Amino acid sequence: MVIRLPIVTTQPLPRHTGDRIEDTFGRRVSYLRVSLTDRCNYRCTYCMPEDVTFRPRAELLTFEEIVRLVTVFVELGVRRVRLTGGEPTVRNNVVELTAMLAAIPGLDELVMTTNGHLLAELAGPLAEAGLRGVNVSIDTLDPAQFASLTRRGDLGRVIAGIDAARAAGLEVKLNAVALHGVNDGEVAALCDFAWARGTTVRFIEHMPMSGGQLFAPARELSAAAIRAAVEARYGALAPSPSRDHRGPSRYWHLVEDPAREVGIISAMTEHFCEACNRLRLTASGELHACLGHDDATSLRDVVRAGGSDDDVRAAIGASVHGKRAGHEFQRSGVGGPSKHMVSIGG
Ligand code: SF4
Repeated sequence: MVIRLPIVTTQPLPRHTGDRIEDTFGRRVSYLRVSLTDRCNYRCTYCMPEDVTFRPRAELLTFEEIVRLVTVFVELGVRRVRLTGGEPTVRNNVVELTAMLAAIPGLDELVMTTNGHLLAELAGPLAEAGLRGVNVSIDTLDPAQFASLTRRGDLGRVIAGIDAARAAGLEVKLNAVALHGVNDGEVAALCDFAWARGTTVRFIEHMPMSGGQLFAPARELSAAAIRAAVEARYGALAPSPSRDHRGPSRYWHLVEDPAREVGIISAMTEHFCEACNRLRLTASGELHACLGHDDATSLRDVVRAGGSDDDVRAAIGASVHGKRAGHEFQRSGVGGPSKHMVSIGG
């Protein structure tokens, strides 16, 4: 099927092959991250300033607007949607919204990234609503360090949430932002924690969002350093070639036990922009084609001005057409966007 995008720009529209859209670098868009709220019940130090201000609730997309927009994205070839925040579980009636999204024809996979704080209560209802999996952030296994890093987090609640998600049948992966001087001594312990639960931890290199204000070069823990820490404890790693590489994480397994894997999201030192397949929709309806730049297109404005689905498709097409080749993050901390990570959902 050929999807036709109405022309609203003098630039050529992104190529759309069959029921897929591609950007001008030939990268196919199949994955959409949808932020449900910019609010969060944690205040992670690498994600937002402590005095962050959130948008007025009236600016957020309504459930009906979110479902309408996601439906258009699915018609354009998106097959996988991840719900993000802020913290998505603090959006009122998130279970109801999950069920509405899971019912969209053509959407193959609906998953969520969460801090896990409310997951013990919500994992079962979310799974029943059609959610397939959760990525849970857990940067440290030290309760005091966890409370400090999140400025208000409760490690026990997060672990209970992880276990509840597994019990509910959700696919669970763990995310840890890798920070030298904070959790570099816990790389092996976090692997053990994940493996003991039959899952995998993915270490994420810290990125200079927020205009670099929350980034310290001395905190860099590179992909190579993460692999070295795992190998120092468990022996040689090898790439996991059979893995589904739909996301930015590259997986490695222990040579001595291939069932034990570790993921690394190496945005800084071994970036993966050439294979990017994603777009991001903020809670207030801004479409960001690239995490690493502040360029955005307001789909909310199109919808609230009475725009048709063709108008929405045109706005998406223009945004995809303008998608940059990749980020310009530098390890010195410059080159990133001014937006906070919390506003875009990671
Ligand atoms: S920085 Fe931009 S191009 Fe690179 S992977 Fe992220 S969204 Fe894609």
